[in-house]
Amino acid sequence: MKPETSIQYIKGIGEARAKSFARLGISTVRDLLYHFPRGLEDRSEIKPISELMDGETVCVRGCLAGDVKTYRARGRKSVTQARISDGSSIMRITWFNAPYISETLHKSPEFTFYGKVAYKGNYFEMTNPVTEPASGENRKTGRLLPVYPATAGLSQDQIRNAASTALLTLDKPLEDIVPESVQKKLNLKPIMEALIDLHTPKSFESFEAARYRFAFEELLVLQMGIRLSGNERKNYSATPIRNVKCIQEFAKALPFELTNAQKRVINEICKDIQKNTPMNRLVQGDVGSGKTMVAAAAMYAAANSGYQAVLMAPTEILAIQHYKNLSKLFSLFGIETTLLCGGMSASEKREAKEKIKSGSSPIVVGTHALITDDTVFKNAALVITDEQHRFGVRQRLSLTEKGIGAHTLVMTATPIPRTLSLILYGDLDVSVIDELPPGRKPIETYSVGERKRKSAYAFLRKNIEEGRQAYIVCPLIEESETLTAKSAVEYAEKLKATVFPDLSVEVMHGRLKASERQDIMSRFAQGEINILVSTTVIEVGVDVPNATVMLIENAECFGLSQLHQLRGRIGRGSHDSYCILFSQGGRIADERMKIMCETNDGFKISEKDLELRGPGEFFGIRQHGLPELKIANLSTDMRIVSMAGKTAEEIILSDPQLELPENQKLLSCVKARFLEVSENGVLN
Ligand code: ADP
Ligand code: MG
Repeated sequence: MKPETSIQYIKGIGEARAKSFARLGISTVRDLLYHFPRGLEDRSEIKPISELMDGETVCVRGCLAGDVKTYRARGRKSVTQARISDGSSIMRITWFNAPYISETLHKSPEFTFYGKVAYKGNYFEMTNPVTEPASGENRKTGRLLPVYPATAGLSQDQIRNAASTALLTLDKPLEDIVPESVQKKLNLKPIMEALIDLHTPKSFESFEAARYRFAFEELLVLQMGIRLSGNERKNYSATPIRNVKCIQEFAKALPFELTNAQKRVINEICKDIQKNTPMNRLVQGDVGSGKTMVAAAAMYAAANSGYQAVLMAPTEILAIQHYKNLSKLFSLFGIETTLLCGGMSASEKREAKEKIKSGSSPIVVGTHALITDDTVFKNAALVITDEQHRFGVRQRLSLTEKGIGAHTLVMTATPIPRTLSLILYGDLDVSVIDELPPGRKPIETYSVGERKRKSAYAFLRKNIEEGRQAYIVCPLIEESETLTAKSAVEYAEKLKATVFPDLSVEVMHGRLKASERQDIMSRFAQGEINILVSTTVIEVGVDVPNATVMLIENAECFGLSQLHQLRGRIGRGSHDSYCILFSQGGRIADERMKIMCETNDGFKISEKDLELRGPGEFFGIRQHGLPELKIANLSTDMRIVSMAGKTAEEIILSDPQLELPENQKLLSCVKARFLEVSENGVLN
């Protein structure tokens, strides 16, 4: 059998079972071998019967001591019983509904049994243990067993058997993706040895070494892909923005004093933008830490040095809000700001693009899509992306290309754990705004069940009567099969009809026209709307200081970082703010809600989120344009992440076009996994 052979031809797999495997994304032998176990089940210990303990789960090895009896109990259940001796003592075993067992038990002189032991006063008993001859292939007892991600209709044993049979019948080894020199240098196991150690594990150590190797391989491919697609970035020089002193007068014009953290980050940016090597910096700051002002300071310096500065937002709401704030701010200095987003009419867009092209508007604010399509800049020297986590790697790259020679700044409120930021941004420099403007009060957060709904609504009403406003967040617009999430529209209607007939309740969701959304947002900002029922479209950036209560439905359906983002819409003014999480409960859900109630620290929350949900789900690695990780663990494999990053850099440095024979397999693998981001660089 070859790596490309369809798994249908593996002994024991037919067409039907192949379909089940297909659901796991497995169609060839190679796929199967790359379906890595996620852990081990230890069935290796074989204990003498005389040393067994009540309640433990172990293997016992022994032969029949007497006859095997099968009889039918009431309810037509068949019961098979046997006594087993291993020389140290005798144990009783009972199997229910397994009449074939008595035949099996006569096929071999010795057997192993794996199961839970019960002490019955004067003897030990196992019920329905895994039973098999003491020697033979594909054993299920007396050893370590791999545990795989499975799917309905496919048992662990079936996956195990398929994988080990495939390994035995493979007549051509899999090609190694990791170049040999790298393997040698880092002392990694060769691919076939590692596959054997993963699928037919002999010890925890060799299993871990094999897992390590494939985690490295996976992360190497990832790091290579990111670096290759961003290859050009390092090759161009940026326009130095020399007049940074002017930021002092900018700061003086603000209605507040910048925080020390803001000043520090602005200084870090100023150092970068004066150079002719492009700045490539990530600013991390919790919600409300004042990232916009930091961006504005840098934009001011660019404008005052005679260049354009661009701020891109992931949503239209946010772009408009930035535009409103910045145009007001920059008009103080006689600097024109232009907005470019999808909701504008064709003629408005044309006019905006004219201004951008001619350079009459030094400051440009817009949604990502529009700015990257066919917009031409006169001389953009600084490109800032807000709320980066919503963009894919590829988008980031294409925008960097737009402003050839531009310094880039990325701002994120969802603190990205270091592992992930290393992967995503590699050599990106990171600035952290680790301080909130003075006077901010932590948001009090409560997790409640359905029983508290009435009092939650009453609490909302009380705050509204005191002059405040509230958000109610629903996860989805339409009913979905998988989630019992409530429809925002229906929900708002119900509230209007029953609970808050006397209040002004409006609904906001992604299906509304941009102009409608804008209208609702400005009425909410002016206090005309008491309660805004919304989907997560309000997640980023919306800033209405008078809104102090947020009620989140089905909070357990959200990621923690997302909840933190949402919650960041309140607590923006001088009043106390409250966030109420409605949660269905359950152990994991409770644990997650507890974190939300205990901390307001976005960084802690995001680390926990990664830990609890795993990298696959963690605010959508897919949203970053990255392929899913199958074996590497971003919360624990930090060391491998940086090692793979370093290796990727070395490989690219010594073989920029990846032409060496030993790098070919790696290149084709990177290409295959990075189809989405292969529009730039070597990956063409
Ligand atoms: P975020 O980091 O979440 O993007 P913003 O930039 O939207 O935060 O700032 C949140 C609010 O805090 C805004 O209303 C902004 O005007 C205000 N703000 C920013 N910096 C300061 C400061 N140093 N002192 C007081 N208020 C500030
Ligand atoms: Mg912001």
